[in-house]
Amino acid sequence: MSALYIHIPYCASRCAYCAFYSSTFEGNRKDYIEALCREMDLRKEYLKGESVRTIYLGGGTPSQLTIGELEAILNHACSVFDCSSVEELTVEVNPDDVTDEYVQGLRSLSVNRISIGIQSFHDDELKTINRRHSAAQAIEAVACIKRNGITNVSIDLMYGLPGQTLDLWRDNLQQTIQLEVPHVSAYSLTYEEGTRLTRLVSGGELKPVDEDTCADMFSLLREQLSAAGYVQYEISNFAKPGMESKHNSSYWNETLYIGLGASAHSFNRDSRQWNISNTRVYIEKVLSGANDFFEVEHLDLDTRYNDYVMTTLRTRKGMDRAHLKSAFGETLYSYCMENAKSFLSNGLLEIEADTLRLTEKGIFVSDGIMSELMKV
Ligand code: SF4
Repeated sequence: MSALYIHIPYCASRCAYCAFYSSTFEGNRKDYIEALCREMDLRKEYLKGESVRTIYLGGGTPSQLTIGELEAILNHACSVFDCSSVEELTVEVNPDDVTDEYVQGLRSLSVNRISIGIQSFHDDELKTINRRHSAAQAIEAVACIKRNGITNVSIDLMYGLPGQTLDLWRDNLQQTIQLEVPHVSAYSLTYEEGTRLTRLVSGGELKPVDEDTCADMFSLLREQLSAAGYVQYEISNFAKPGMESKHNSSYWNETLYIGLGASAHSFNRDSRQWNISNTRVYIEKVLSGANDFFEVEHLDLDTRYNDYVMTTLRTRKGMDRAHLKSAFGETLYSYCMENAKSFLSNGLLEIEADTLRLTEKGIFVSDGIMSELMKV
């Protein structure tokens, strides 16, 4: 089984923290959709005939597109790839794009999961990060999605926002829990180079939240969501039992996936590749038949091992030691277990049956542990 990702690079405005590839210029939408369909034709062999289990439309902001535009993209995808066994079809939406009519349109396209970028339930915080919706719109959007029959909803949250206190974060979590959605993704704000937020912090106009408070926010996130019945199945992802994102999980378990559109990434187990991060150039190259709209990296054993360590240790399921040995060989297996020894003895890693995973304590220092286990 395989996974299909389609990138929609348009946003109505730019969020102050955003380093994703997206554009506020939408004059080339028609050409972009044509280029997406052409890319599908050009790369129809990429999934090696494996049927598609999950489709994810991300961005950018896919809900900038009309239902008719999304339909054209999905119909073409399903005419090129084997989509007869799709179990999960997710579309990312922005709260202020959500209307009854739009959600009904998504349902008519067989969309059965919606990921909604809320980030915060406080208007001051939303203003600081330049989100274009209000807290009230976010709450109404979730209600609207549910009343129109899509119950598999994921909320994106952000913590460590400038000016955010532990109490404000607690309130965000309480409001999230009250919405009774089955999935929550929560990320600590990072200051990426070139973003407006980073410039404001560098210029002294905004003060970042200190590291200790961010760690306390992470603890609170885990406590509150766990008490509300969510399972932390990956460091940043929480789900009610059985409601984990099938698509995200495929990125963590070496599933074959194709990414279509500007800046999208693909993985075929031997190599990974990524499309050019420029919508105009992407369109020009794909529509002219040029085959240099992407770069490819062939994956040697060490790189594949590093990816395996990084992705599996982020998950609650952890790393399968038998698979580690059979897929990467005795030498890398021994390297991993030798480097894991000190973390096992100080209670940051644990072994249960044949699984190596982070402990409750280890989750807080996961980056350091993973880099020690990776091959340099
Ligand atoms: S909506 Fe998403 S992709 Fe667009 S600017 Fe905001 S964070 Fe970036």
